[in-house]
Amino acid sequence: MAKDKVLIVGGGFAGVKAALELEADDRFEITLLSSEDTFRYYPTLYHVATGGRRANAIIPLRSIFEGKNVKLHQGKAEKLDRQEKTITTTAAEVYSYDVLIMALGEVTNYFNIPGLKDLSYGVKSIEDIERFKAHLHEQLVSDHKPDLNYVIVGGGPTGVELAGALPDYMHKLMQLHNIKDRQIHIDLVEASPRLLSRLPKDVSRVVQRRLEHKGIKLFLGQAVQGETANELMVNGKPIQSHTVVWTAGMANNPFYSNNGFIITPNHKVATDIFLQAENNIFVLGDNANTPFSGMAQTAVLDGEFVAANLKRRKDGKMMKSYRAHLPTTVIPVGEGWAAVVRRHLRIYGLLGWSLRQMADTVAFHNYEPWIQAGRQWLTYYGSEETCQTCLESLAVRHAPTD
Ligand SMILES: Cc1cc2nc3c(=O)[nH]c(=O)nc-3n(C[C@H](O)[C@H](O)[C@H](O)COP(=O)(O)OP(=O)(O)OC[C@H]3O[C@@H](n4cnc5c(N)ncnc54)[C@H](O)[C@@H]3O)c2cc1C
Repeated sequence: MAKDKVLIVGGGFAGVKAALELEADDRFEITLLSSEDTFRYYPTLYHVATGGRRANAIIPLRSIFEGKNVKLHQGKAEKLDRQEKTITTTAAEVYSYDVLIMALGEVTNYFNIPGLKDLSYGVKSIEDIERFKAHLHEQLVSDHKPDLNYVIVGGGPTGVELAGALPDYMHKLMQLHNIKDRQIHIDLVEASPRLLSRLPKDVSRVVQRRLEHKGIKLFLGQAVQGETANELMVNGKPIQSHTVVWTAGMANNPFYSNNGFIITPNHKVATDIFLQAENNIFVLGDNANTPFSGMAQTAVLDGEFVAANLKRRKDGKMMKSYRAHLPTTVIPVGEGWAAVVRRHLRIYGLLGWSLRQMADTVAFHNYEPWIQAGRQWLTYYGSEETCQTCLESLAVRHAPTD
């Protein structure tokens, strides 16, 4: 029997999960096309941005698919031809399909605010993070002075997690660079009146207190109007800073509007009860208009759901309808503290932190066997710096004493 050619575009949470679920079924021929050659585990990117090891947040796709029945290709999908059933990449490579699964994730949105795109830093990719870290170290090496104000824009999970981890990291960097008596300020700017606006108000309040306790100055209900080389304009007032991190805006991947998909008022792709945008074109994860889109757990479940339905269809059964599952939210705010939220359940502090560590290991296991997932989790420990001054200071600290 001829195999169904399944083309999966996007090597993130949803796409990789769908590929892993289908690869062992020899009724399908699976191709995974992704713009990157690694899987990015976004929840720990804030940790890498504050000195953690890169390996904690990235897994090479070739290691996930080693020995598996999946053809891997790197390339950026640009055009969909519905008649020919092909995807063409920006490098003019053409991939054909019988079934297309799209999960491209979101892109950063600067809302056309002047200066932000060129001057702000991001934490959405390893490249963003390397640029951010290089800047943090450069200012310490060149002027021997840290910036006085570090501004994080966006009071969602990413901004809160970064703000929670940055004070300790900056303190450590200043020690490594032998800089004393410098009082630095970390500001968090959020346009809505409270942090974590997708979570209940009581959670926002606890997290707000935690950040204030760590010395973070909050600018709530205040919108960013522009950035120049030396300052960020917020509600008509300037904040002096050379270090602005933008975490406030995400937009759906432009591939869909560029290729005539139906886009809902909340900027997601309209799908039916099987997550099909059109016949045999499935859209998953952050791109799909599902109730809990925007969370990693939803993307994983979407990948499993579509794979299971494709197998059911091959077995001659009806496909099942999609049921959204409420994800558990875990927000770490500094080392050893996290907020865990699920319906009326709240867990704060060290226990929340420990649950988050367990959740990461389980999440890694979605993509790796247990033993590797355990090793992947262990990469949380230890640090990774490329700055020469830091490396020399660390070598002195760890040198054996007589
Ligand atoms: C910094 C950050 C922290 C987060 N923290 C959490 C958290 O703690 N908990 C949580 O539940 N969720 C978190 N999220 C959200 C979560 O990561 C997403 O919901 C999840 O990644 C969505 O999975 P996805 O498969 O839809 O997209 P992604 O995982 O983003 O994967 C998209 C893939 O498509 C590829 N791609 C993009 N465009 C193209 C193209 N044109 N052609 C080919 N390939 C392409 C990309 O390289 C990527 O591999 C976080 C997100 C960010 C940015």
